[in-house]
Amino acid sequence: MNPTANYIENLLNVKDPCLNFVDCSQTTYKGRKVIMCTAIAELDTCPNCKSADDYIYNGFKVVHIPYISADESNPVIIKVKKHGIFCKNCELYSYPSTQIVDKYCHISNAVKRKIIVGLTKDHSMTSIAEENGVSVTTVQRYLDHCSAQFTPSFDSLPEHLAFDEFRGVGRKLHFICQDGEKHTIVAILENRFKNTIIKYFLQFPEIVRKTVRTVSMDLNCYYGDIVRQIFPNAELVIDRFHMVQMVNRSFIGFRVQVMKQLDKKSREYKLLKRYWKLYMKKYKDLEGSKQFYDRCLKVPYTPAQIVDEGLKCNETLKNTYDFMQDFVYALADKDTKKINDLLDSNIGQYCEQLKTTIRTFRKNRRAVINGAKMSYSNGCLEGVNRKIKQIERTAYGYSNFTHLLKRIRLEQNIICFKKSTKQTCSV
Ligand SMILES: [Zn+2]
Repeated sequence: MNPTANYIENLLNVKDPCLNFVDCSQTTYKGRKVIMCTAIAELDTCPNCKSADDYIYNGFKVVHIPYISADESNPVIIKVKKHGIFCKNCELYSYPSTQIVDKYCHISNAVKRKIIVGLTKDHSMTSIAEENGVSVTTVQRYLDHCSAQFTPSFDSLPEHLAFDEFRGVGRKLHFICQDGEKHTIVAILENRFKNTIIKYFLQFPEIVRKTVRTVSMDLNCYYGDIVRQIFPNAELVIDRFHMVQMVNRSFIGFRVQVMKQLDKKSREYKLLKRYWKLYMKKYKDLEGSKQFYDRCLKVPYTPAQIVDEGLKCNETLKNTYDFMQDFVYALADKDTKKINDLLDSNIGQYCEQLKTTIRTFRKNRRAVINGAKMSYSNGCLEGVNRKIKQIERTAYGYSNFTHLLKRIRLEQNIICFKKSTKQTCSV
């Protein structure tokens, strides 16, 4: 091999025995400045009958193959001159074929690989298309290609599931279900209607559905009925972060209500308004000994004193605060007895919002207790939801649910995908 051919081959990282590189220069192609690498492809035997001497040359055709380049403003194009032959033995015309591009394809395999790698990252399809010198439709086509491996199988279900929803195409809510232990996505459905969810899970045979042991979810939905209907052996688990959020919101709502009744210049108002963050902290974590001088109130206080003073202005607020603190501690300690006691306490002493929350907890007592004593929660799903939000933002929103779904699948399953990238690309 001559040194030029060797140099170009190494430069492009093309290892194809039937290509013989002869030149590499900067020219203009279709009105663009490009780096054109010229190669000659010849046949030394007939591909049909393997005859080595009984053929004649029969003209040549030139193909231009776009190749990957580091600088997208200066694309690399491989110009292949294919010498055709006519075999006298089998009376057929044939042309040499190269490994860098598939038969009947125009885009090189290296570019396809780069597109697929780009799709697994947080890049928009438009930017991937621009980077590789292809159209957006082409990128979408490869997305369709590689997502073919994500066809759902109805042979097994994880033992622990987590249900949630996220906002997607057209601000609609989509249903998402995840494996509670391995954190892989089990299903994403276009909407969260009862019928859609039931129809999807009924595709699994009953034996498979019976293997599901727990399903964790939010409280404010009808998922409970669905779970009882389709997973006969599953225990409901209410997400503990969601429970804390509900109790916290009850307290915040009532605190604002109390504040509205107070004079804005009063000491109580300032205590409740200015230091609202202290009320949301765990009481034991508040600094109880070191005082700091408060310029607004013109007295030295410790954070714990501020909370105590603020709560003095309203008895119901104090009771609500105590419930919130006890509930958070009981959840953290997995103290189910304490939670039962709290739910059984006299709800007359609390604010209206908290009364409603406690009534809801009472209705779902078993699921609430499960949420406290089991380690399963929807925490993993919140992470996935954040990732999905990022995918949507990068693309400035999706109008096609299927494309969004494929992209989520692809970016989520990067690790499993990378193992099979080679197979997918050669399809
Ligand atoms: Zn032949």
